[in-house]
Amino acid sequence: MKPIYVTKSVLPSLKHYNKYLKKIWGNGILTNDGPLLSELERRLRKISGSEYVMCLANGTLALQLALRALEIRGEVITTPFSFIATLSSVLWENCKPVYADIDSQTLNIDPAEIEKKITRNTSAILAVHVYGNPCDVDEIERISSRYNLKVIYDASHSINIKYKGKPLFSYGDISTTSLHATKIINTAEGGAIFTNNKEVAQKVKLLRNFGYRNYKILELGINAKMNEFSAALGLANLENLGKIIKRRKRVFDSYRRYLKGNGKITYQKFLSEQNYAYYPVIFLTEKLKKKVIRELNSRNIYPREYFYPSLELVFGSKITCPVAYDISRRILCLPISPYLKETDVRLIAGIVNKVCGN
Ligand SMILES: *Cc1c(COP(=O)(O)O)cnc(C)c1O
Repeated sequence: MKPIYVTKSVLPSLKHYNKYLKKIWGNGILTNDGPLLSELERRLRKISGSEYVMCLANGTLALQLALRALEIRGEVITTPFSFIATLSSVLWENCKPVYADIDSQTLNIDPAEIEKKITRNTSAILAVHVYGNPCDVDEIERISSRYNLKVIYDASHSINIKYKGKPLFSYGDISTTSLHATKIINTAEGGAIFTNNKEVAQKVKLLRNFGYRNYKILELGINAKMNEFSAALGLANLENLGKIIKRRKRVFDSYRRYLKGNGKITYQKFLSEQNYAYYPVIFLTEKLKKKVIRELNSRNIYPREYFYPSLELVFGSKITCPVAYDISRRILCLPISPYLKETDVRLIAGIVNKVCGN
């Protein structure tokens, strides 16, 4: 049997992609604010509900430029339950991460825990909409205005999610996303920054292009530009967004059906409609999870331990967030993609159920 990974990158048809490649061959523009990039930014702007969209080379640079553009220094309160890039971007920008524990149901940073961690040196909150589940944005907004903090949302999983009638990308001083090959919409490698603040948007544009404007270096920048081949892929993939979500939903619903009645697993409490980016399962014990992984691996199936370990343990050893520590050891993301076949879903769910003794 061919291996089944946690996801399979979405690709448009070659014919579809070629439609955009022809434009590149026609104008000879490969990068540097090309027309395909502008078109992708225009379309992302439409679905993001925010004023300004800047596409970037990847989602990690999006986080780093977000911290830079907002001039964040000192302590940044963030979640220990995320992908490494959430933490590494804070460290890379010479800020100090301060962890606030997550809510055991939503798996998102707990606003009450944020408030406990605020000091004189706190300058920002970097929260993650985990698996696309909206954070308590109202409470985070209240805290940020009370203590005069900037808010950055790592919305890497949040395409097509609306909360209280607004796209999740439109919240915070900045929202970032990733367009990496493993995400719902990909540009192979890519990311984006969303903001409603014009000055911040201009700063991001400057920073992503070496700090260059009108042939002058205005400040220290970096090369974080997205190229035209990536933008082309993004445009073609974005045109299939509805179809992609529909297919993911089908896989998601099948899992739910097959795993129904399995008393050894629980799920994240989701506060909006889903985009079916992931299929996270929380096992009763870590031992059970490990057994499931072993069993699936022996059948050439590779789920992923998103997110393990708790980020507190990556460069340190102290556990101050027991909920994140506990969840990270028991959670497992089962394979999901628009291409996953019903028979494979049944097989995977069957193995999970069997190991769980159902
Ligand atoms: C994927 C991801 C990133 C990083 O994005 P890249 O495009 O791979 O650099 C950051 N944060 C979270 C939560 C992610 O899942």
